[in-house]
Amino acid sequence: MSSLDKVLGRLDDLDSVNLTILVQRLARERRLLETVFNAVHEGILVTNALGYIEYSNQAANNMIGLKSGKSSASLFKLVPGLRHSLPIWGEESNATAVSREIELNYPEHRFVRLYMVPFTEDNEQLFAIILTDVTADKFSTAELIENEKTSSIVLLAGSVAHEIGNPLNSISIQLQLLQRQVQKLSLDAEARKKMDLSLAICSDEISRLDGIIQNFLKAIRPNEPDFKETDLVQVLEDVLHIQKQELENLSISVNVEVVSEIPKIVGDPNQLKQVFFNIIKNAMEAMREGGSMKIQCHADDQNIYLHFADSGKGISQEDVARIFQPYFTTKNDGNGLGMLIVRRILRAHGAQISIGSQKDVGTVVSIEFPLHRIRLLE
Ligand code: ADP
Ligand code: MG
Repeated sequence: MSSLDKVLGRLDDLDSVNLTILVQRLARERRLLETVFNAVHEGILVTNALGYIEYSNQAANNMIGLKSGKSSASLFKLVPGLRHSLPIWGEESNATAVSREIELNYPEHRFVRLYMVPFTEDNEQLFAIILTDVTADKFSTAELIENEKTSSIVLLAGSVAHEIGNPLNSISIQLQLLQRQVQKLSLDAEARKKMDLSLAICSDEISRLDGIIQNFLKAIRPNEPDFKETDLVQVLEDVLHIQKQELENLSISVNVEVVSEIPKIVGDPNQLKQVFFNIIKNAMEAMREGGSMKIQCHADDQNIYLHFADSGKGISQEDVARIFQPYFTTKNDGNGLGMLIVRRILRAHGAQISIGSQKDVGTVVSIEFPLHRIRLLE
């Protein structure tokens, strides 16, 4: 119990002298908190479920261009497009922790990482939001990775990975030959079993290594997107077709809902296939048998929105902020590059991704494609 709570608990017994002391104490505690919150570099906001800002520190005011003391602003007005792209704050608002990057154009052009945690106070649903300015970060990482020619380490790592591919290929061929030779040997059942098991493990490990290398190369040497007119719903259907068998084996039901007409975008259908594939694969891996997946698409005059909701095991609040980090995985056989590749491809499409999740309930991955890129086609 804080000292403030203790004092408040005794409120009924207070006379006017004590009341004055209490008010002074409250004012002091508030000033102290204000000083602390205004000293941090991160923007801190508290909003209600409609996005109205109930508290903001100085750094947040600077980032989103809010005059201090003006509290009647809605975060949704200040950051257009934010509302639709958040998995929470829908009609059947199911509060979840959310992590996403937003691009702000006012008062300055910057990229901000938004991390949002729900909490309740007096039965009211509120959200604590932390904004971190990642503009510099983004540009330096972008320069480092995107412009691989200037980064000798990235270039070197890429060529090493590439070089490993050749011997790996030949090991795999030799292993297949070996498997055939073993078939021909006259061995007792026990010895054959052991040998088959060892060969199978070798072959699995080779595939795993190959997967790691392929993903690594994809992550550090992204192909330039081959932009053309793209029908996102068609791309989604193609991916679901590829994953149909796996989904059926796990008895996972998939429900695709296209709420409004989805205009075509300028995109690279093959890269977008990788995006949807990775997102759906992660959803599958998070669900036990018999889970359900809902995919919803809708558009307004600014953006196309896609929401992938699964009934999987969810992501803890600490991990939500980490899932785009290279090599972050919670799976024994994961490589932690899937979401990195997803975000890289989406960035090349000018699209935004956000993740909302509730432990043991499920995860919603939301993507927002800006429509202004359509004009490039005309
Ligand atoms: P990998 O799938 O190889 O682990 P990813 O980059 O695709 O790597 O995902 C990183 C981590 O993010 C996963 O290990 C998992 O913990 C978490 N994650 C991603 N999507 C989901 C989801 N739909 N449900 C639960 N956890 C998820
Ligand atoms: Mg994955």
